Amino acid sequence: ATADTPAPAEPDGIRVVGARENNLKDVSLTIPKNKITVFTGVSGSGKSSIVFDTVGVEAQRQLNGTFPAFIRNQLPKYERPRADAIENLSAPVIVDQKPVGGNARSTVGTMTDIYSMIRALFARHGSPTDGLVSTYSFNDPKGMCPECDGLGQSVRADVDLMLDKAKSLNEGAIRLPNYGVGTPDWQLYANSGKLDPDKRLGDYTPEEWQLLLHGSGFKVQLNVKSGSYKTNYEGVVDRFTRLGVKRDLSAVSERTREAIQRFITEGPCTACDGARLNPAALATKVDGRNIADWSRMQISDLIEVLAAIDDPVATPIATAARTALERVAAIGLGYLSLDRATATLSGGESQRLKLVRHLGSTLTGMTYIFDEPSVGLHPRDVGRLNDLLRALRDQGNTVLVVEHDPDVIAIADHVVDVGPRAGAHGGEIVYEGTVAGLRTADTRTGEGLRRATRGKDSFRTPSGALPIRNATLHNLKDVSVDIPTGVLTAVTGVAGSGKSTLIADVFTAAHPEAVFVDQSAIAASSRSTPATYLGLMDPVRTLFAKTTGAAAGLFSFNSEGACGDCQGRGVIITELAYMDPVTTHCDSCDGRRFKDEVLAHKLRGKSIADVLELSAEDAVTFFTEAPLRRKLRGLIDVGLDYLSLGQPLSTLSGGERQRIKLATQLNTTGTVYVLDEPTTGLHMSDVDTLLTLIDGLVDKGNTVIVIEHNLDVIQQADWIIDLGPDGGRDGGEIIFTGTPTDLLTTANSLTADHLRQYRA
Ligand code: ADP
Ligand code: ADP
Ligand code: ZN
Ligand code: ZN
Repeated sequence: ATADTPAPAEPDGIRVVGARENNLKDVSLTIPKNKITVFTGVSGSGKSSIVFDTVGVEAQRQLNGTFPAFIRNQLPKYERPRADAIENLSAPVIVDQKPVGGNARSTVGTMTDIYSMIRALFARHGSPTDGLVSTYSFNDPKGMCPECDGLGQSVRADVDLMLDKAKSLNEGAIRLPNYGVGTPDWQLYANSGKLDPDKRLGDYTPEEWQLLLHGSGFKVQLNVKSGSYKTNYEGVVDRFTRLGVKRDLSAVSERTREAIQRFITEGPCTACDGARLNPAALATKVDGRNIADWSRMQISDLIEVLAAIDDPVATPIATAARTALERVAAIGLGYLSLDRATATLSGGESQRLKLVRHLGSTLTGMTYIFDEPSVGLHPRDVGRLNDLLRALRDQGNTVLVVEHDPDVIAIADHVVDVGPRAGAHGGEIVYEGTVAGLRTADTRTGEGLRRATRGKDSFRTPSGALPIRNATLHNLKDVSVDIPTGVLTAVTGVAGSGKSTLIADVFTAAHPEAVFVDQSAIAASSRSTPATYLGLMDPVRTLFAKTTGAAAGLFSFNSEGACGDCQGRGVIITELAYMDPVTTHCDSCDGRRFKDEVLAHKLRGKSIADVLELSAEDAVTFFTEAPLRRKLRGLIDVGLDYLSLGQPLSTLSGGERQRIKLATQLNTTGTVYVLDEPTTGLHMSDVDTLLTLIDGLVDKGNTVIVIEHNLDVIQQADWIIDLGPDGGRDGGEIIFTGTPTDLLTTANSLTADHLRQYRA
């Protein structure tokens, strides 16, 4: 069959009967095997509940059941999803946006296994010092830099921050906490007899400077209230390194920790200059470069270097490495380097790298499950992503994709549209069939695909400008640009062109007053919920106490009122080494988090657990108190009306996390907001809600800067800053600044090309 005439669905598809996870309302469906099925629907409609929580979990559970008991015991325990039947599954491969191994030893090279190929190349082809491959491994004691243990980074005291060279000791030149004039720590230097306490540090001789920083070997008399005593002199850097930098700070108070951390910087290790390896490993060279130089190279360049290797022993390894690297480049990640720490990758980059890892596999008959793989991709690269999804299918796999991007939806062999709306108003299948059928369907997705895509033609006038001057971080090429205030600015460009570097790194460092609202995890405990995050719990507890006469503290899931078995979490969390923790239902409170006697107290007929189960939308009618309603309105305005007050924040998607952060920010004026890809996880109709929200923020006198690929958002901006021309070394320049109308007539901009196509 050719691509445009899909073969009929095979009779033996994956069968789901009566699924009821989260908001699903007895959902039954058959998912064709060896096809691409795209799941669409508004955010919160239940797509993930079907694909991840039902099909994915059951496939994983059945797979684990096939292993011998001693292996099974080490695997996560999956609970059977709530459904009558889930049949005819195949082995699952879940490719999501969770960060890949956040640990500092994981790099693009190690996670793709390409680094081990380069190591092998060095062992065979490098100048023969000693042929051990492990020598080039920074995770092996024989290869790692002894100074940073192979991490490439080290933390150290920042002398420029610690000391004010324009002042003398008597004037308070030491800025560290607890080193104020007169304190014992200060006396160690002022009373040393070797440093003039009235001399400005800037006027110190090199010997005095060395003594202040690193001196030792004599005693100093210190005077304290209770008398005086002698103690060993220790240079201020060494002392702070010992007591501040190297000490385990987990025991000190948050305030002290923050005060200390202000004087600590993390930077490339000074011994290996970030190369992670010891001098012996770095001495070996291939083509005049050591292995750290190879790892630092942009992948697209590395491919060329490997292609040039011509040596009967090394060529097979070089070819294998090149093939693997070409897959990385093919998905638009050619701007990365092998030494890039995976912890610094975005969610979209992580997901695409995981995808690459599977493309090399020759396994067939698997079920691949993707969560919005187009995240972070410029329209230019969505085509390449589609090629890879098709390649997986054509290798004989079943591909399930949760997506909002019309260009990805377009390649579906089969579509499942979930709705009609979110939360309790969703959880049903509203359309199943071909993409052509979806385009005429009477659903939100159908409407979204049909709607006209007209931009606006009048733009707001900026009230001023925030400058960025001569930025050179990462790939930026001496970039200077003004960000207009009082308007909506979209920063555009292909992945790797430098958008995040320019805005999230450079701009927010130069203008710390800006509020950066991204999708990162909300630093919070496993007990955090929308109710705690929005500060609803205190007033709600007070209300319960007033109404019932019981103590307010009882209504907190951190108190003695909480279920003792799950400590008020509603679930039991089991931590596993090397894997995601596994959560299981708490049977003693049945997930309700509180003791029975607490639940007996009712407010307007509802227990505290009932209240936490309310959606924001229902809560706003349940509560009559204005301050509570104001906070709840925030949730509704950002499109999270369907979220229940007690849903753990850890279960929110990245897009939902970003919007809940926004929900607390809606009543400000004169603030600069930076939003990193706010359309992530949003359906076309949700994008309209978001745009209304952003327009409201700008109209209130705020400045909004979005990093975006979504063409609907781009054409609604007042101002566009387009980066490019391409990614990595080939990016880092400003290609265009101006209104969307002017962008349409710009040559040499990939964003302009796609906007023209979109409007055609
Ligand atoms: P989608 O993938 O379409 O955005 P989800 O399947 O993630 O939607 O969510 C469907 C509904 O179920 C939403 O109301 C969501 O808030 C809720 N939900 C999702 N995960 C959980 C969970 N772990 N616990 C409780 N509710 C959840
Ligand atoms: P965009 O946001 O447009 O996708 P980025 O700003 O993330 O682009 O990346 C621009 C360039 O900077 C790329 O070559 C990328 O690999 C590099 N880069 C980004 N973040 C880091 C980092 N933390 N460490 C090293 N290089 C980085
Ligand atoms: Zn080092
Ligand atoms: Zn419990």
